[in-house]
Parts: sequence; structure tokens; C-alpha cells
Amino acid sequence: MKSVSIHTVGCKLNYSESSYISRQFTEKGVELKPFGEKTDIFILNTCTVTAQADRECRQLIRSVLRNNPDTFVVITGCYAQLRPNEIAEIDGVDLIFGSDDKFRIIDYLFGEQKDTLSCIDKKPSGKTDIIISSLNGGGFIGEAYSSDVDSRTRAFLKIQDGCDYNCSFCTIPLARGKSRSLALEKVIENAQKIIDYGYKEIILTGVNIGDYSDESGNTFFNLLCGLNKLNISRIRISSIEPNLLNADILNLVKTSDKFCNHFHIPLQSGSPEILNLMRRRYNVNLYEELINKISEIIPEAGIGVDVIIGFPGETDYHFNETYDFINSLTVSYLHVFSYSERPDTRSVGLPMKVSTFDKKVRSKKLRELSEVKKSSFYKINEGKYAEVLFETEKNGYIEGWTGNYVRTRIKADVKMENEIFKVKLLKSEGIKPVECEIIK
Ligand code: SF4
Repeated sequence: MKSVSIHTVGCKLNYSESSYISRQFTEKGVELKPFGEKTDIFILNTCTVTAQADRECRQLIRSVLRNNPDTFVVITGCYAQLRPNEIAEIDGVDLIFGSDDKFRIIDYLFGEQKDTLSCIDKKPSGKTDIIISSLNGGGFIGEAYSSDVDSRTRAFLKIQDGCDYNCSFCTIPLARGKSRSLALEKVIENAQKIIDYGYKEIILTGVNIGDYSDESGNTFFNLLCGLNKLNISRIRISSIEPNLLNADILNLVKTSDKFCNHFHIPLQSGSPEILNLMRRRYNVNLYEELINKISEIIPEAGIGVDVIIGFPGETDYHFNETYDFINSLTVSYLHVFSYSERPDTRSVGLPMKVSTFDKKVRSKKLRELSEVKKSSFYKINEGKYAEVLFETEKNGYIEGWTGNYVRTRIKADVKMENEIFKVKLLKSEGIKPVECEIIK
């Protein structure tokens, strides 16, 4: 039996696609092995959102080839889509597939035979086949969702791909193309498959999920209403643009017993001038009003915020605007990113680059603020009752998330894995997982 290992760098969307590709192989009788084990085929699903991601992908490829020079190496994903020649410079890479082409790797490797892996003989040194389709060719969108090949307890469900926004720092529209959505019926069908695999939580994923709109004109809200009818314990909306999170969605989350009261909403900057330079589709007032509306409609909601520091032109004054703005908001945690210049994006030409030193200082300050926000959010939840989906046992404890995204833990009892229990949250300790007790 031939074997394959598939490794992923990057976002939830990439993980859902790697899972889909893994299942394509197992359904063809190819053994799936964990990353690091010797295999006949190695597939890397890459990311290119930062220069660091590119570096990490190159290092991964080289380490696999060092440990197993005979493995047939296939590279796909966003980095492959945009800079295939850079990857092909690494001797030993056999095949490079673009973002949309990743769903055809299986057919290519099985070739005409269809029942045996006939196309996995190592290419001669320095020879790499590159298969990159243009992305905006016809609205193709590869479906993807977590499946039983995964060891996780929370499943990713791809609903949308690509993006029509043009944020000046972002390379994703270049790597994944225009916004396109899976038909609502297809999403529901895939969600049902996830439920049949035994998952208790579905996380909706894509590039700009709030911009969901299928060929029948179904909107993101329509899709949520459709998913709300399924027999699933929890549905979590992953990252959603602030200008796309409307009152209908908030009220559905409020009234539904399935949608998690947790929102992750990119802000990127709290400085009006920098937001403009970023070409984001909202201003700080809209963002503030949205956070206040969420606190009004769903007071117990967990709210996560993405923020980029070190964007060209960001002075101490602009950074302090961002810091003070976020500090004034009722949010629960931050994801802090350092600006990374990406080729062919609009911000490349902008003057006043921020030094690495200033980026480090600012990033540290915001991470500290995130800890303050998170620990006060955990404090507010002390003594509250919640439902927790427990994941896997670790060091005698088992951890899991509440619906509103409080990390909890309890002394492990194996039958708790992948089960939802009603708990009472006990004393919190900073940002450590909050101890809890089961409510019978
Ligand atoms: S919304 Fe902006 S940051 Fe997000 S994927 Fe689209 S272009 Fe990139």
C-alpha cells in the first residue's frame, strides 16, 4: 500500500482543503500517515500571507527532502499559486499545483490508470512540473470540509473562497481569486456529512465568509438559517468583516441554540488615517457601533479582534490611536500581526516603512493589552453556567471551549472526549484555562 502525508501551513480554509484532499487519497486506498513519517508522497498545502509563511514553507520542504529524499514532493496552496518558480528552485520538488488545481492532485497522480498511483516516480534533478490555472476562469470553487481522517473535535466547513475586496496589504485575492460561494444546498449536504462523522461543532470557513452569495442569490444570512435547521450542537462563525455582520445575523445568533455567541472581527487598525491607507471598507465609528450593538444584543458574547501593527506610515501617534481605541472597546482577545510587505500589493509603494524595532515594541504592547482583555473576560465569566465541547485529554486534564470562547479545563475522564457537558465556571486565573465543574 502506498502512503501519503499532507501538511498544512496557514488558515482554517487551508486545513479544511487538506482534510478534503486527505480523504480523496484514503478513499483510493492510499495510507495516510502523520507528518514526519517516511511516505511515498508528501503534499504541502502552503500559505503566503506573510514573508515568514513563505520562509516556513521552504524550510519544511527542505527538511522533508533531507529526511526522505525519495519521497514524491507535491506543493500546492497560495504560495504555490503566486511564486511557483521560487519553490521549483528547491531541488527535489516534483510537482507544483495552484490554488484551484489542488483538488485535481489525486487524478494527476493516478493518471490514466485510475486504480494505481502511476505518476509518482521522482523527477530528474532540477525538473519540476508546474500546473497553475488562472483563478478567475469560471467561478470554480473546490468544496472542502473536515472529515474522519482528522483527529480534531471541531470541524471546518468551507462555504466560500476568494475575495473582491482590495485591502492594500493583502495578497489573498491574488492567491485565491475573486469571491465565489458553494451552492447553499451543497454546503448543507457537506454539513450533514460532518454531522454523520460524529462532529459536535462546525466552524464555517472561507476567505470573506460574510460576502457569501451563491448563484441562486442566497446570502450569508440565508445560509445560516439553512444550517440552523440541522441536527448539530454548535455552529461557529469564524472571521467575519465588520461591515458584513448585520443585525439579522446577530439576532439569529441570539435566538438560536446552535450558533456560538462568539465573533472574530478584523479591525486591523484603530487609526482613521491608517484604515484609509489600508483601503478597509469601514471606519472606526462603524466598528465601535458594531461592538456596542453586539454587547447590547448578546452581552455574554466573546469578541476577538485582528489587528496589524507596523503598516507603512504608522507613527507612534497612529499606534496610540489604535491602542486607545481597542482599549475602549468591550472585546475579549486580540490576534496581533506585524505588517509584512507582500509583492504586487498596493501598499508596496507606500513610504515611511516602520522599523523592525518599532514593530516589536508595538506588537508587545498589544499582546499585553490582549492578555488584559482576555483575563477580564474570563473573570466576568466566573460562576457562570455554560456548555463546553471537551476535546482531548492532556496531562490528566481535558480542555474545551465554551460557546463564547472561554477556554476551560477539568480533571480528565476519558468518556468526556468529543462530548458537550453543562458546566459551572469556577475561579479564573489570568488567561489560563478556567477550571470548571460538571453540572449534573
Ligand atoms: S477582506 Fe481584505 S484582508 Fe480580507 S481577504 Fe479580502 S482583501 Fe484580504
